[in-house]
Amino acid sequence: MENLAKKFLKKGLLVFSAFLIVLPPLVNSALALDWEAKRTQMIAVDLVPRGIWSPAVLKAMKQVPRQEFVPKHIRKLAYADRPLPIGEGQTISQPYVVAWMSQLLEIEKGMKVLEIGTGSGYQAAVLAVLGARTYSMEIRPNLAHEVKIRLNKLGYRVQVRQGDGYYGWKQHAPFDRIIITAAANHVPRPLLEQLKLGGKLILPLGNVRYYQNMTLIEKDTSSKTHASQHGQVRFVPMVGAAQD
Ligand code: SAH
Repeated sequence: MENLAKKFLKKGLLVFSAFLIVLPPLVNSALALDWEAKRTQMIAVDLVPRGIWSPAVLKAMKQVPRQEFVPKHIRKLAYADRPLPIGEGQTISQPYVVAWMSQLLEIEKGMKVLEIGTGSGYQAAVLAVLGARTYSMEIRPNLAHEVKIRLNKLGYRVQVRQGDGYYGWKQHAPFDRIIITAAANHVPRPLLEQLKLGGKLILPLGNVRYYQNMTLIEKDTSSKTHASQHGQVRFVPMVGAAQD
């Protein structure tokens, strides 16, 4: 009798432990579905109605797990239609702004792209998914350190360097595209110089304490530049030499 009870107990324990093994992956995949649903909703509500149409950009936005780029305690807000704090007074841009800048840049596979202001690494990940050979510079040492680890862990091929992006990244210049994700009141000359003929540079240009205009600069084949403005935005200021 005692043996029988032991047998049942053993069986019960086996079933119970099997349950414990199966449960966490089930919960994880349910959560993953939840994030994916949030991304689908973000695309339908915040991106497409505002004029994001590029299939490649929409595909990248559908793919990159934004929740991995925001601090743990605000993960729930990862897909909210707003920028979020990432520490040191800095922010991860609103999803729409990331999609919009990416679309305006018309990135093609294999292009060499330089980002100034890596921050969380989210924009850099989107660029990498678009097929860009992505280089990104971050001036704040702590953020640069964290973002290198994050991008590596998530498997994005982005080269990150800590330093003042004002001077660009000469070693890898010239670039097909340059994206500055911090506000400046002028276009840093070294960055214009590191832009290829026929290349495009985008930045929030204007008063760094208030509002800026999303400005696209195109360098034609004779090195002349043409600027177009695309609407008001608000970014954290570019620091370092940009403020001298
Ligand atoms: N692209 C980021 C958001 C950028 S927030 C993302 O997807 O999360 C702006 C970032 O620019 C901040 O991290 C800030 O530290 C950085 N920054 C400001 N001035 C800079 C400079 N001169 N060179 C490089 N990075 C700079």
